[in-house]
Amino acid sequence: MYAEVLRRNPGEREFHQAVHEVLESLAVVLGRHSEYAEMKTIERICEPERQIIFRVPWQDDSGEVQINRGFRVEFNSALGPYKGGLRFHPSVNLGIVKFLGFEQIFKNALTGMPIGGGKGGSDFDPKGRSDAEVMRFCQSFMTELYRHIGEYTDVPAGDIGVGAREIGYLFGQYKRITNRYESGVLTGKGLGWGGALVRTEATGYGAAFFAEAMMEARGESFDGTRVVISGSGNVAVHGIEKVHQLGGTAVACSDSSGYVVDEKGIDLEVLKQVKEVERGRIADYADRVGSASFVAGGSIWDVPCDVAMPSATQNELDGEAAQVLARNGCRYVVEGANMPATPEAVDAFRAAGIVFAPGKAANAGGVATSALEMQQNASRDRWTFEHSEAKLAEIMRGIHARCHETAEEYGSPGDLVLGANVAGFLEVAEAVHAHGLI
Ligand code: GLU
Repeated sequence: MYAEVLRRNPGEREFHQAVHEVLESLAVVLGRHSEYAEMKTIERICEPERQIIFRVPWQDDSGEVQINRGFRVEFNSALGPYKGGLRFHPSVNLGIVKFLGFEQIFKNALTGMPIGGGKGGSDFDPKGRSDAEVMRFCQSFMTELYRHIGEYTDVPAGDIGVGAREIGYLFGQYKRITNRYESGVLTGKGLGWGGALVRTEATGYGAAFFAEAMMEARGESFDGTRVVISGSGNVAVHGIEKVHQLGGTAVACSDSSGYVVDEKGIDLEVLKQVKEVERGRIADYADRVGSASFVAGGSIWDVPCDVAMPSATQNELDGEAAQVLARNGCRYVVEGANMPATPEAVDAFRAAGIVFAPGKAANAGGVATSALEMQQNASRDRWTFEHSEAKLAEIMRGIHARCHETAEEYGSPGDLVLGANVAGFLEVAEAVHAHGLI
């Protein structure tokens, strides 16, 4: 099966990696479900239902014409409308979008919510662009995307480079073109116009809740732990916030220029001011906080910790970094980003007895809360912060329990990678099978 995926999708390294990891877990399933082999259910899930690639022309502030490429991969709709974020980053290409879309199918299934899997984005780089440029880009992007999405068809949201500002411009253009105030077409909206409380915090909070559940299963808690969280975007910021609330101390975070260590614990007020308000660099944090030091470049995984939460981007934590973490006594690794640990890193965690949670389970809180936003939009309702956060915590504990139990049931106790892949797959495969050969 894997050889066929390689043949059909040449050069898409990250997509190959994501598929390989899932296929490795599924041998145990085919032994119990011959119908999935017969109907080529896995092969069908590996092939996106629809892939859209389009030109995004726009003009920058100096009047120069710019051309980017837009993508939306509608991967699987067995459980509900395609659901998944949009990523705006220069590294975006079809292979990256397919890897993210493929992961999203199983992640969304694990949430237990009625959402299929999809992903999109563009190689547009918002870094250093003015608000007006970002708006013009978003408007051009939506001028093509609008015909492919909808409340019952495909519901995009944010990811790297796409936050509340971009979702606002995208929603405005969708409304203008379609003449419909269709709140459920996008999630991650502003609170004043159909957005949901806790959506912003959800991925980071959810990853911390998941980590807490992992520790509880081993008779431990966040109390007194040292935590290192890479990144300083939406996931990292809210991961740090929840870790502190749960009794841990997040001592380091990073961006592409380097990392900061603050033994007193990262000061969230300063971090949010630097990264969210000023859209500045992480070095600015160290300039303002006396207890902090900045390391240019280097590896944040050199910082000793009990819990590591890679929350920046794919393949940011390699085999070597994993060895360093193990040597320094790290006991838990929880993926806040999508596939931040390389396969070599995951092998090293296994060998060292580090408990590892894959992103498709641990970072599912974001998309789960997107599904809660869709629920509120559909019923024209608005829930309180407390109610929404309690739901998120319950969903994350539920995902952990399912991964944990599935791993046991399929003969690999403690292996949350196998648990997540098998539990997610079974949910999707049953629906795919029920819908016939489509
Ligand atoms: N981009 C997020 C993820 O990787 C959220 C997607 C969504 O809310 O639809 O799961």
